[in-house]
Amino acid sequence: NRGSPSPTDPLLFSECLSQDRKVRALPLSGHVGLDALPDQLVNKSLGQGFCFNLLCVGETGIGKSTLMNTLFSTDFENLESPHFEPRGKLRARTYGLRENGVQLKLTIVSTIGFGDQMNQQDSYQPIVDYVDAQFESFLQEELKIKRSLHNYHDSRVHVCLYFIAPSGHSLKSLDLVTMKKLDRKVNVIPVIAKSDTISRAELHSFKMKIMSELVSSGVQIYQFPTDDETVAGINGVMNGHLPFAVVGSTEAINVGNKLVRGRQYPWGVVQVENGSHCDFVKLREMLISVNMNDLREQTHARHYELYRRCRLQEMGFRDTEPNRKPASLHQTYTARRQEYLREFHGVEEEMKQMFVQKVKRTEAELKDAEEELQFRFERMKRLHQQEKKRLEEKRRILEEDMNSFNKMRAAVELLQAPSFSTAGKKDKDHKK
Ligand code: GDP
Repeated sequence: NRGSPSPTDPLLFSECLSQDRKVRALPLSGHVGLDALPDQLVNKSLGQGFCFNLLCVGETGIGKSTLMNTLFSTDFENLESPHFEPRGKLRARTYGLRENGVQLKLTIVSTIGFGDQMNQQDSYQPIVDYVDAQFESFLQEELKIKRSLHNYHDSRVHVCLYFIAPSGHSLKSLDLVTMKKLDRKVNVIPVIAKSDTISRAELHSFKMKIMSELVSSGVQIYQFPTDDETVAGINGVMNGHLPFAVVGSTEAINVGNKLVRGRQYPWGVVQVENGSHCDFVKLREMLISVNMNDLREQTHARHYELYRRCRLQEMGFRDTEPNRKPASLHQTYTARRQEYLREFHGVEEEMKQMFVQKVKRTEAELKDAEEELQFRFERMKRLHQQEKKRLEEKRRILEEDMNSFNKMRAAVELLQAPSFSTAGKKDKDHKK
């Protein structure tokens, strides 16, 4: 069996040559069971089940919940959203669905209060934050030493259905800004909601207008892949029908003795699953039956890859050194550690200098304050001495005044004393 590849198998041979020159294609002389590999994969996938995460972006009341119920033919728990949220937010709910033995773990994330605020400048932010947070938690799991990706609940958003209001005019700037912010992070599929509320002619020109606005604003919506020849035909045609004009309803209505899902109007019934009434079936086919796996793969290989690359670069990892030599994880880690230590020492030195400067400044301030206090003390002391001197002088003058007064009083008393005794004698003589 080690001979050269069979000349009857030229395709296999050339494929092997072009992919890897070291691989030699060998013919098998008997059945070995390689053809059971796809079955093994199918069985494993069926056992594990699938997971799909769908994000619905659109204003309150545009028909997001109704369309989800219609798409998956079930009644998801739908809580009515208020119109008065101060800031838009998202609500995620996970459900287990099963069809013909195939299990799907479906997460539906829906915007609440999107675009309801007067200031719609940052309305897209909670959505972008949510998408990034799911990428980040997957990245953190991947970076763990003990990873458990096999039972990890992968919440990365696989598709974003962007609900456009059926105005018939043009896209709102909020729609363009939000889709632009999302297009590099998630597969965006725009849909015209409640398309039964505008006429067919209007719908046609509305679709064209939307597509030209998306192209001129550089918004990259998801394109159904045309590289797999089994689906290239249908996907190519469906790309031309974007954005899908959808109608949602879970109400069963009797039309020609048949129960169909639709919306009843006085003039007739809009049938959800009738291709000439709306694009609901096209959306369901493209989203679930044909391209669900591609949406999952694109999320991992394109959007998550971009997020991961940017985050690892931010963390300082790189595949090549500046001299273009490949850098191993260990080298990158060592280089990054040294860079960090250098930065750390730089900051430490800077802080030390700042501390010394601060101490010096405080010392100088304290010295100034002390001098100021000393100066004030001296001045008060001087004032106090001057005041003391003044008071002593006043006291001396007062004492002098008192002395001279006392002297005068003594003199006066002396003068008055003899006259008083003479008068007393005269009195006594008179009585006798
Ligand atoms: P959400 O807030 O975006 O989830 O909107 P809902 O799904 O709760 O729908 C809001 C209202 O719009 C409900 O009364 C639905 O019956 C109605 N509605 C939903 N889809 C359609 C549709 O395709 N056409 C029309 N005419 N009404 C719809």
